[in-house]
Amino acid sequence: MGGFPERLAAVLGQRHKEDLYRRRLTLESSQGPLVHVSGRQYLNFCSNDYLGLAAHPRIVERFCSAAAQYGVGSGASHLVCGHSIPHRQLEEALAEFTGRARALLFSSGYMANAGILSSLLQRGDFVFEDRLNHASLLDGGLHSGARFQRFPHNDVAALEAKLKSAQGLKMVVVDGVFSMDGDTAPLAALADLCTRHDAWLMVDDAHGFGVLGERGVGSTEEAGLDVACAPVLMATLGKALGTAGAFVAGSELLIEGLIQQSRNYIYTTALPPAVAAASLEALSLVREEPWRRGHLAQLIVRFRAGAQQLGLPLMSSASAIQPLLVGDAGLAVNLSSRLAEEGFLIGAIRPPTVPAGTSRLRITLSAAHSTEQVDKLLEQLAACWPVN
Ligand SMILES: *Cc1c(COP(=O)(O)O)cnc(C)c1O
Repeated sequence: MGGFPERLAAVLGQRHKEDLYRRRLTLESSQGPLVHVSGRQYLNFCSNDYLGLAAHPRIVERFCSAAAQYGVGSGASHLVCGHSIPHRQLEEALAEFTGRARALLFSSGYMANAGILSSLLQRGDFVFEDRLNHASLLDGGLHSGARFQRFPHNDVAALEAKLKSAQGLKMVVVDGVFSMDGDTAPLAALADLCTRHDAWLMVDDAHGFGVLGERGVGSTEEAGLDVACAPVLMATLGKALGTAGAFVAGSELLIEGLIQQSRNYIYTTALPPAVAAASLEALSLVREEPWRRGHLAQLIVRFRAGAQQLGLPLMSSASAIQPLLVGDAGLAVNLSSRLAEEGFLIGAIRPPTVPAGTSRLRITLSAAHSTEQVDKLLEQLAACWPVN
């Protein structure tokens, strides 16, 4: 039988055997296109700092001045006495930016997704999720008590068949940009479907917010979606905005409902006020510096053109996430190690994060990269392929 130690050891042994063991890097520098690990400098192509804001001097300065004014810890949950002026200002700014009546901050995207789904859904309801949705959405749906159904990736017809046969309150949940594939949800078609079948659409725009659309509002702006068509809009602040935390934006009723009922909102310490203040500064930069989105878009086009010419296994992504499909987990790890030896940080993404047999190198581009850095990456990838 054995106890917990034996069980843990067995799991770890299995992970080793299947090339699925994970290791953490310890950074010795701030996040950016160049990072230091173990005394060595690397070109970083695996962060989600899409606009290069994580260590931006204006954001750092705003963080420090807010810490001086408000201290470091928020001291309590939002409903007790942890809600301060920077939180309120950030919520108001996010609501205005996304064109929603209100917005509500959560301490992380994972908590926001679990909190939104578990407070909106009840037993007897239906929740439909794309099978490639982020783990936090899948976990939230599974634990919500509602009947949980996955549909094949971006398959609007399959979803329609499921919606037709469901009787009850229905919610459809998708990533705006899929985190491990980089492709986007067919939001216009999904919104139309939801309208026809009286379902609510929830969009997790962790990877679109700040990056996509004319103003950087994200996937919904890019798809030209009416506010009413995506009643639950969620996004994170730890990716393009370069800070931490997450928010949900929507109607007065939605936000007030979450404040009253969401256990993930109620029973946790508020984000540090300085993080909220830093996020406000980041949002200003998103508004003031559209060149970041423009430069990133150019890098994406350049990378794809170069990779195509080299015959690299690109996936159908137009976003900053540009995975190269490898297949075998061991091979993906070997490639990632080989690239690290040459000074390039690129993560090998393996099951259970992605389906078995679809391990990949997840390359992410950032507005902080130069064209020369992207060209260097292409040169190095050319030296690695074909792989075996
Ligand atoms: C990163 C991510 C989350 C989780 O956000 P955190 O703030 O990192 O907890 C949720 N959804 C998607 C699609 C993500 O990529």
